[in-house]
Amino acid sequence: MNINEFIKELNKLNIKPTEEELTKLEEYARMLLEYNNKFNLTAITKIEDIYLKHFYDSLSITKAVDLNQELKILDIGTGAGFPGLVLKIFFPKLEIILLDSNNKKISFLNEVIKELGLKNIKCIHGRAEELPTEYRECFDIVTSRAVASLRILTELSVPFLKVNGYFVALKGKAEEELKEAESTLKVLNCEIEKMEKFILPDQISERTIIKIRKEKETPDTYPRKYDKIKKQVLK
Ligand code: SAH
Repeated sequence: MNINEFIKELNKLNIKPTEEELTKLEEYARMLLEYNNKFNLTAITKIEDIYLKHFYDSLSITKAVDLNQELKILDIGTGAGFPGLVLKIFFPKLEIILLDSNNKKISFLNEVIKELGLKNIKCIHGRAEELPTEYRECFDIVTSRAVASLRILTELSVPFLKVNGYFVALKGKAEEELKEAESTLKVLNCEIEKMEKFILPDQISERTIIKIRKEKETPDTYPRKYDKIKKQVLK
């Protein structure tokens, strides 16, 4: 998708990008390509694909949540910053924490944040299931794209949400994962509030945005250790 198509598609999402935001995005794309060899950040290397499959795809989360507010957001397994860093560029009021277990990616993200002069955004090197207790029950939204199955992500995300906060998962086709996550959602007192299925503007790639609301506090026993989460389904 070229830049004009990108802007047109953002308008359909009710996003009217400023020149400054587009310049920041351009610089981000440039850095992504420059650092890619060294840091192994993305398999997508054509600029038009970066705008579609990383930038537009990240912003498509606005189909499910209104981000024009002061919200505290955690992006689990953000990688090279998707969706969290892209959201920060277009919604400066957000307070964002980017979490990833890969330190090279965290170094890259810190470089981008510095270069673009972004404020109120912080990177943490670590694993979601090992985040310190000070991060529990304090986010309005937890997001995640392309990190693990919905069942696993639900257990990794929900403990960090406030009651009535949302876990928003960005997925491709999701029918099977939804079925597999049912009992976990129940045990962790969550409900699917909205599901947005759509096709990316390339008219090929299927997407599902799953918006899950946390209804009650999460017991301290979750998230369990990663091995346990993987092997033992909550029932
Ligand atoms: N969200 C990005 C990256 C996806 S790749 C995107 O959509 O492009 C998955 C990333 O999740 C990797 O960078 C990996 O280091 C990170 N990751 C996997 N399991 C994790 C965990 N338990 N906690 C934190 N990060 C994790």
